[in-house]
Amino acid sequence: MTRFVITGGAGFLGSHLCDRVLQEGHEVICLDNLITGDRRNIEHLFGEERFSFVKYDVTEYIHVPGEVDVILHFASPASPVDYLNYPIQTLKVGSLGTHKALGLAKEKKARFLLASTSEVYGDPQEHPQKESYWGNVNPVGPRGVYDEAKRFAEAMTMAYHRYHGVETRIVRIFNTYGPRMRLQDGRALPTFMSQALAGEDLTVYGDGSQTRSFCYVDDLIDGIYRLAHSDEPNPVNIGNPAEITIKDFAERVIAITGNKSAVTYRPLPEDDPKVRRPDITRAREILGWEPKVDLETGLQRTLDYFMQPGRTDRG
Ligand code: UDP
Repeated sequence: MTRFVITGGAGFLGSHLCDRVLQEGHEVICLDNLITGDRRNIEHLFGEERFSFVKYDVTEYIHVPGEVDVILHFASPASPVDYLNYPIQTLKVGSLGTHKALGLAKEKKARFLLASTSEVYGDPQEHPQKESYWGNVNPVGPRGVYDEAKRFAEAMTMAYHRYHGVETRIVRIFNTYGPRMRLQDGRALPTFMSQALAGEDLTVYGDGSQTRSFCYVDDLIDGIYRLAHSDEPNPVNIGNPAEITIKDFAERVIAITGNKSAVTYRPLPEDDPKVRRPDITRAREILGWEPKVDLETGLQRTLDYFMQPGRTDRG
């Protein structure tokens, strides 16, 4: 059995990782300060002996008694609305939190995996985005707090790898959706789904011609799990290369809910990337990974989740 520490383990991706690691027979210590994470994402695990949860802010010194084999560093606000609401916390967890988590990895001789992001590419001038692209980020714009924190986190991770010999992995995560997203987190999918379920108009920002490429959460978790077990220290994109305009995406959400909502247009937020699509050649070659769940199936599973009693009144 291997002992995992998962920071941000009560969040959307973190909680799915807790599930996967436990399913594989390992032990999980989940750390989360619950700013944007939610205890309800992990409460089904509370009876499990191999699972423990500590409400903790990982920007402070992290003390974990005993051995640790793997650290998955997923703590961070991750939606544009969240990092506008928590700009300082976002900067702190990406910088100080990454430093503390790397310090724990060095101390315990553990493997470390950083949750990075397609946001390191900013509003990209290369399309689709390969890992070799350095990005086009506005450091002082509203997204800068997240983008620069993650870019710093990548630099810090490589420094611990090169200078301290820590075994590190970096995943650049593209747009992901599925059960346990917070309906109010402001991202396109939960916003559209809650609007469609309420029979309200869907708020598309700009003219809706900007593109994203949405990956179903189970596919993403599988890619991350494979990367954690690989020998690859350089960043690897994990995401679904099926690109769609946001207007078409809104129409797809309306269709799946079967409601008669319309689309209404709102101003495009500052620095909103115009295109985004991962080049996943490296993930294919190094991890033998590619996404399997198409948008139709993934949207249906996500809708089934939000239709369960009590889900749509969650904050
Ligand atoms: N978006 C939108 N309406 C919403 C929420 C988001 O049109 O109610 C757009 C947003 O401007 C962006 C895309 O959908 O172009 C994806 O936004 P999201 O917040 O999900 O993540 P991002 O990829 O921008 O980090």
